[in-house]
Amino acid sequence: MFRVISRDDRSLARAGELDLAHGRVRSPAFVPLATKAAVKGLEPREVEALGYELILANTFHLFLAPGSELVEEAGGVNRFMRWERPVITDSGGFQVFSMGHGTVADEIKGRGRPGERTGSVLAIEEEGVRFRSYIDGRERFMGPETSMAVQAALGSDIALVFDECTPLHVTREYTARSTERTHRWLERCLRWHDGHGPAGQVVYGIVQGGVEHDLRRESAHTVAASACDGIAIGGSLGQDKAQMHEVVSWTTAELDRHAPERPRHLLGIGDVDDLIAGVERGIDTFDCAMPTRLGRHGVAIVSDPSARWRVDLAKAAHRHAHEPIDPDCPCPACSEGFTRAYLHYAIRAHELTAMRLVTLHNLSYIARLMRDLRQAITEDRFPEVAAAFRAGATPGRSAG
Ligand SMILES: [Zn+2]
Repeated sequence: MFRVISRDDRSLARAGELDLAHGRVRSPAFVPLATKAAVKGLEPREVEALGYELILANTFHLFLAPGSELVEEAGGVNRFMRWERPVITDSGGFQVFSMGHGTVADEIKGRGRPGERTGSVLAIEEEGVRFRSYIDGRERFMGPETSMAVQAALGSDIALVFDECTPLHVTREYTARSTERTHRWLERCLRWHDGHGPAGQVVYGIVQGGVEHDLRRESAHTVAASACDGIAIGGSLGQDKAQMHEVVSWTTAELDRHAPERPRHLLGIGDVDDLIAGVERGIDTFDCAMPTRLGRHGVAIVSDPSARWRVDLAKAAHRHAHEPIDPDCPCPACSEGFTRAYLHYAIRAHELTAMRLVTLHNLSYIARLMRDLRQAITEDRFPEVAAAFRAGATPGRSAG
């Protein structure tokens, strides 16, 4: 289902094609979040028009509401939300364990949901996790088989195995024991899927191991030795970008030796510099709340490395800025001439229109960045193009 079509010979970067039940995904690619079966504020055709071929929905949230039975009754998550292209579903492990582990991982990876009630974990056992629902306070259970059954009912193209996402603040001992359990859960997920998984759904294993070199390597080995179709990298990846890039390097170096032909997904990472670093290290797909969440808060992605590629339109400096976020940007917001002054005013007034416009701009930027990186790999110019983006170059102007 995955084919590498071009490799950069000066790094691990590669361009490929994923052939999934609902169509083809060209990689490297960014995957926008449709956590609760909606890319917040946008219609699926708008997401598609920006050039996206894959989105990520969340097993945990859809399990609690509206429930996987209802989504199955509607014909699966793609049909339910009117997105005709492939969907990847997160296993729910991250959300279940976030309730017990606090927010360290959320802060670092930006996957938290500020202001949302998060429920609570009642017990973590070999069988799975018992927790209290944040919706109605009811006691619920999720284990490897539950997660796979929910993902089977959702009918996603890619299912992720149920894992424990260990946060940074736990001991090495805890991370080691947890990673071993995650490996046992991997086997249980694959066994369940073998017997009951829907035809056409592929399964990704997840590499854990925290920030410990030997644990990451061992986890990469174990997952590569399993029968999974693809491999995701999860967990806390470090306390800063340098450490995160190092952990990804360890993992992809192992995967390049032991599972070179299987696709790799990096969970929860989406800053511009991290996307470039991830592609350079051989990651094929990425998901992250960042571009859409920043958009809803009026923060636009721009080609300014010194400001972490961000500009906060809610700041007073934009009050009289009667020009678009980027006059040359082909996104629906900039090309229609919506100005920073207008967006500044409308974001502060909590207008949904402004949240939508900045979200569209951000997703357009990231889609064009990934497309340009992909093209650079196929044209043997990846290091030069990556260096240009790191120095503040803007992705190509043509849309999609
Ligand atoms: Zn724009």
